[in-house]
Amino acid sequence: MSDSDDVYTRAAHLPDPPVPNERPVGLPVYRTSAFVFGSAEEYADVLGNRAPGYVYTRIDNPTVDAFGSAVAFLEGAAAAQCFASGMAAISTTLLTFLSAGDHVVAPSSLYGGTYSMLAHVLPRFGVETTFAASVEEAAAAVRPATRIVYGETIANPTLTVADLSGLAAVARDAGALLVVDSTFASPVVCRPLEWGADVVLHSATKYLGGHTDATGGVALGSAELMRQIRAMRSDLGGSMAPDEAFLLHRGVATLPLRVDRQCESALAFATAMAADERVEAVAYPGLPNDPGHALATKQFDARNGSTRYGAIVTVAPRGGREAGVAMCNGLRLALNATSLGGTVSKVSHVASTTHRQLDDAALRAAGIAPSAVRVSIGLEDPDDLVADFTRALMP
Ligand SMILES: *Cc1c(COP(=O)(O)O)cnc(C)c1O
Repeated sequence: MSDSDDVYTRAAHLPDPPVPNERPVGLPVYRTSAFVFGSAEEYADVLGNRAPGYVYTRIDNPTVDAFGSAVAFLEGAAAAQCFASGMAAISTTLLTFLSAGDHVVAPSSLYGGTYSMLAHVLPRFGVETTFAASVEEAAAAVRPATRIVYGETIANPTLTVADLSGLAAVARDAGALLVVDSTFASPVVCRPLEWGADVVLHSATKYLGGHTDATGGVALGSAELMRQIRAMRSDLGGSMAPDEAFLLHRGVATLPLRVDRQCESALAFATAMAADERVEAVAYPGLPNDPGHALATKQFDARNGSTRYGAIVTVAPRGGREAGVAMCNGLRLALNATSLGGTVSKVSHVASTTHRQLDDAALRAAGIAPSAVRVSIGLEDPDDLVADFTRALMP
């Protein structure tokens, strides 16, 4: 507060906000870009990482840290760093650990933005990636310069389940880090750090937030790896905003409730779709004949004895591209919209949306039927969802 009687000076130096002794039950939003110090020395010590504290929201913010700690707690991680989006978490993590001349081993089926980073952006900076379809191919692809082995717990849209301990062994033998994008699983379904991953990444935009109203990303792992990632994020600037952190933190409190319900509905939905003769194929790790079923049962968490297999199901109706498009157009509950993990069910016709660059032959080679529709199961009544799709399927 100022002792000046000038209104301009007074307006610029309003009274300090109260800092209560009582801990708030809800999460306060620290909507400030900068924090005040009592002296120039204290300011310099915190900025120089010689003392703990907050200087600038691009570097750290208490509301954002609360969200990071919440996810670290569920994921079993020592530390977390938050980002403006899932892609900011992924790109910043890659740039933290890679330099010109380095090499990455990554799955051949990858989230589109990650594929673009590895296949198109990083080669401009002298980083090469080998894409491998299995643990055996990944082991064979390793070179002396391999720094990162990359994986996705559940891949899009084939829903292939990564062999995390197999990939961890490949990374360990190579002296590389295992970095795992676990967005499709969430920490309720799988915690890759328990299977040997060094860094876990999430698009918080999906299950963690869960309400399709906030965008964010998070990286999790040891305090030392997160220290390095934090330094790179400070330079690149892809930091999470305090308002987004508030919404995402609020989402985390109901994550287990939402994900359990969505996993149960997904199993019922996948079972019903697999029994419908108008459907050519259903990919869902929870189906006993799914190629990823055994691995998922081993790696994924269970509740009351039944495994949580995730809540994304890929349904391929018989009849090619048109059949997939027709099913999407016939739905009344599930929305034609991108993203996943929210309260409302959503569909994407894979060949015309997320994988639109691939022709039918390339789709088939990647194990994707031209009619395939990725379904993100929401919180609706599962019988209503089955009825919606049963009605929308062509006779
Ligand atoms: C959505 C998504 C991303 C990217 O996250 P954004 O928050 O959209 O930047 C990365 N990986 C996976 C698996 C995703 O589903």
